[in-house]
Amino acid sequence: EAKARGGSCSRVFSEEMSASRQQRFSLEARLRQALERDEFELYYQPVFDLDTCRIMAVEALIRWPQEDGSMLMPGSFMPLAEEIGLIKPLGDWVLETAVRQLRAWHDQGFTLAMSVNISVNQLHPHGDVEHFAALVRPHIDPRWVHLEVTESTLMVDPSAIETLLAGLHEEGFQIAIDDFGTGFSSLSRLQHLSIQTLKIDRSFVSELDYPNSKGAALVGIIHKMASNLGLQIVAEGIETEQQRQRLLAISGGKGWGQGFWFSPAISAEELERWLQRQRDG
Ligand code: C2E
Ligand code: MG
Ligand code: MG
Ligand code: MG
Repeated sequence: EAKARGGSCSRVFSEEMSASRQQRFSLEARLRQALERDEFELYYQPVFDLDTCRIMAVEALIRWPQEDGSMLMPGSFMPLAEEIGLIKPLGDWVLETAVRQLRAWHDQGFTLAMSVNISVNQLHPHGDVEHFAALVRPHIDPRWVHLEVTESTLMVDPSAIETLLAGLHEEGFQIAIDDFGTGFSSLSRLQHLSIQTLKIDRSFVSELDYPNSKGAALVGIIHKMASNLGLQIVAEGIETEQQRQRLLAISGGKGWGQGFWFSPAISAEELERWLQRQRDG
């Protein structure tokens, strides 16, 4: 009796397993197909000077439009793309699409910078500086391109990553550490890295609503450190005017930021309209 129940329990379990395996398999097939058919899109989140509220840069963020009109966000497919080895071709598509767009904007007189997220698996173990440069140079001078790597990327193979980042910077790329403050990298490593920008993770920015919080104190410390090291600070996830004001004060008027208070990531056409309004107004 007990044994029979156990048997039916494990049967249910294995059916569930195969259902999720099935789902994963079809998502995997759809991902490969989407890349072949050029179905991904880049949206662009503007990055503002906190003082003038002018757009200084944009961050390219990948989106996957679905047939039913919905939009898949990177969190729901990028981890699988990494796992199945699709991240290099997909990462190449992102970088090239972003710099083509940037070329078009520069040709229209909108001279802004472009941030592109780079996954650790694009850099490791055989990250190829030449390859990145060859993708970008035909379109734009790499100094307009900011490559964002997360703090955890820096810990995978520290000395290899250090060499890679230095090589990329020699080619002219600007390097930003994304989600700074969440990755537990040691502060002493910062002095060995060719980086120009720290992007403060939005978990700290939201703490600015509580001026006496530890998070708010850390934002101040990060700014002091960045300014001593000559690094640009970009605050992520600004959702309120109060957060913008506090960041402006902390940065001594020099900070940049992005977030829903300014704008979410939007299509290229929509961003272009914004740039036009900014130029005309
Ligand atoms: P990230 O690089 O830290 O990008 C910022 C994320 O925060 C974006 O989510 C953006 O839409 C979201 N965000 C912006 N402002 C706010 C705000 O005020 N409040 C809140 N709650 N969120 C805000 P998204 O587009 O879903 O991207 C998530 C992550 O996926 C990115 O984090 C990045 O790590 C990764 N990602 C996105 N596009 C690419 C890509 O082309 N390549 C790679 N390798 N990774 C990508
Ligand atoms: Mg980013
Ligand atoms: Mg981030
Ligand atoms: Mg993030």
